[in-house]
Amino acid sequence: MAIVRVTLIAFLVGSSLSLASGQQSASTAKSQPVLNVSSMDRTVDPCTDFYTYSCGGWMKKNPIPPDQSSWSAYGKLQDENTAQLRGILETASAPDPSRNAANQKIGDYYAACMDEKAVEAAGIKPLDPYLAKIAGLQSKTDLAGIVADPVYFLRYRRSTLFRFGSEQDAKDSAQQIAVVDQGGLGLPDRDYYVKDDVKSQELRKAYLGHVQKMFELLGDRRETAAEEAQVVMRIETALAQRSMTRVERRDPQKIYHKMTAAELQALAPSFPWQVYFAKVGITSLASLNVASPDFFKGLNVELDKEDLAALKTYLRWHLVSANAAFLSTAFVNEDFDFHGKILSGAEQIEPRWKRCTEYVDDDLGEALGQAYVDKYFGSEAKRQALKMVQEIEAAMQADINSLPWMSAGTKPLAIEKLHAVANKIGYPDKWRDYSKLEIVRGDEMGNVLRARQFEFNRLLGKIGKPVDHGEWEMTPPTVNAYYNPQMNDINFPAGVLQPPLFDPASDAAPNYGNTGGTIGHELTHGFDDEGRQFDAQGNLRDWWTPEDGKEFVKRASCVSDQYSMYTIIDDIKINGKLTLGEDVADVGGLILAYMAWKDDTKGQKLQPIDELTPEQRFFVGYGQSWCSNEREENKRLRATVDPHSPEKYRTNGVVSNLPEFQEAFHCKPQSAMVNQNRCRVW
Ligand SMILES: [Zn+2]
Repeated sequence: MAIVRVTLIAFLVGSSLSLASGQQSASTAKSQPVLNVSSMDRTVDPCTDFYTYSCGGWMKKNPIPPDQSSWSAYGKLQDENTAQLRGILETASAPDPSRNAANQKIGDYYAACMDEKAVEAAGIKPLDPYLAKIAGLQSKTDLAGIVADPVYFLRYRRSTLFRFGSEQDAKDSAQQIAVVDQGGLGLPDRDYYVKDDVKSQELRKAYLGHVQKMFELLGDRRETAAEEAQVVMRIETALAQRSMTRVERRDPQKIYHKMTAAELQALAPSFPWQVYFAKVGITSLASLNVASPDFFKGLNVELDKEDLAALKTYLRWHLVSANAAFLSTAFVNEDFDFHGKILSGAEQIEPRWKRCTEYVDDDLGEALGQAYVDKYFGSEAKRQALKMVQEIEAAMQADINSLPWMSAGTKPLAIEKLHAVANKIGYPDKWRDYSKLEIVRGDEMGNVLRARQFEFNRLLGKIGKPVDHGEWEMTPPTVNAYYNPQMNDINFPAGVLQPPLFDPASDAAPNYGNTGGTIGHELTHGFDDEGRQFDAQGNLRDWWTPEDGKEFVKRASCVSDQYSMYTIIDDIKINGKLTLGEDVADVGGLILAYMAWKDDTKGQKLQPIDELTPEQRFFVGYGQSWCSNEREENKRLRATVDPHSPEKYRTNGVVSNLPEFQEAFHCKPQSAMVNQNRCRVW
């Protein structure tokens, strides 16, 4: 799997868990304005609760669809994009011999996935050869050959024993190196295994039940399956205890430990690394990043402690869990019941066409994305977005130059880094070549596994080679954006540059508040507590004077203290250390967007619209980018795993730090939306 350190604008778990609804999405019209007055609740005082003032109407009109765990401006737009992709895929799936190669692949992949009868008839058969391999394991040393198969990986979500992939060398960003990292869990985070509160205990009990049911579906007797679930829990809990927390992992120094393959072998001698590397096709490996050495020490202890039978049980669980979504209904439903329902709160599974569309996006994203861009992303949107990006970069330059707390020792290097940021808008200049990936009509699981192997080969093929700066980590229809500190680039897929988040036909104020805020957010990531540790070339290297570094830390703590006060649900507060990078990016991003908007409209006589001044429209545009409703279960999940604060605080927490907001809405100094201890980093 790609282990890439990117920071997103929004939280989207493995797409099938977070996006899109059924019937509602038949419409592909995107006529909503960027600022929608009827989405507001003007009975609420904007100085008391700006989020509800901006989004109260939206929240009432947009209940969460039964197949969703949350519903938001982002999720709704993703849903509309997915409906557009469905149209493309339905056309491409007609077995027309004149289809081009890309359409053959996306069309036949989609057709195979939609062929529920064939999938149902196949049942567990596609996994039989892998189950037989596990059954035939003779010794623990043969384990390495088994887990090297990509069938055990599921991108972005789960891994077996540990994670393996490639990444840019943190201290030599021009090079790609191999990386091994902690992994091997079935629950979304280590905290689920180690926390002792009632909710965590309940979830562990539900997880045991889920694992047991999967073993029963594999044909095991109930009592046996119950014991097997206990084995899985024991092994995963041990791995969780050896895993770093999400907060620890936000420190790039803590996840960089370059060593030789021999040093890794010494660290975890019970796992035959050479066998593993040979199996994945790597013949020689001078060095690699062992991101979490303590985890591998712990893994070694567990491998020594557990007997072969227990490890076989663990492998069978991960095999079925990583592939359940592509098997027959019984497996799909059991997987959804736990991950969709219990962990995230959705009531129903998404309709099949939607899941299939998302799988095509996962596995052939740039083939599908090319068709999407041709149809739905105009040159005017790209031109305007690029213009906005350049204005926001200019605003950041002015901002850095005027910063009172940063000295002349650091400023030129900050400006150098800013100038080196690469702007990527809409889609890649060069599309990924899928010609070596074979897609067969009528063979759903075969396609999934070949696609996973293809992706694995692509990632491992990078090791030892120079970095390709044209690559994207997101597909074009994705409603999200990211900054990658090692590439030092900001990336805005075509999917996020669509109404109601962005509209070339809208007046400037809400466009700048919404998409301008997003652009400013990504740019600020280059200078948040994590991003600031990388230089203009994307190398992990301290370019700050010690005094300026201290000034930064002081200002950043103001932000983390502020957000740590906010309650997510019950007595669960925001983990301000987990969300610090995102919160800093939110505050800084909106300041930059405001500066850029003022500059863009300098000298123009802007008129109020719908009784909102241009300044008010800017802020409401921002507020409405975060309109959302969310299920309780999903709030709890995100409290643990999501580095972004809940939408309410992404709105209120930000504006309460901005005097420009206070002025636009004439807020009294004691208002709730005026932070008495105003935080500002950038
Ligand atoms: Zn972000």
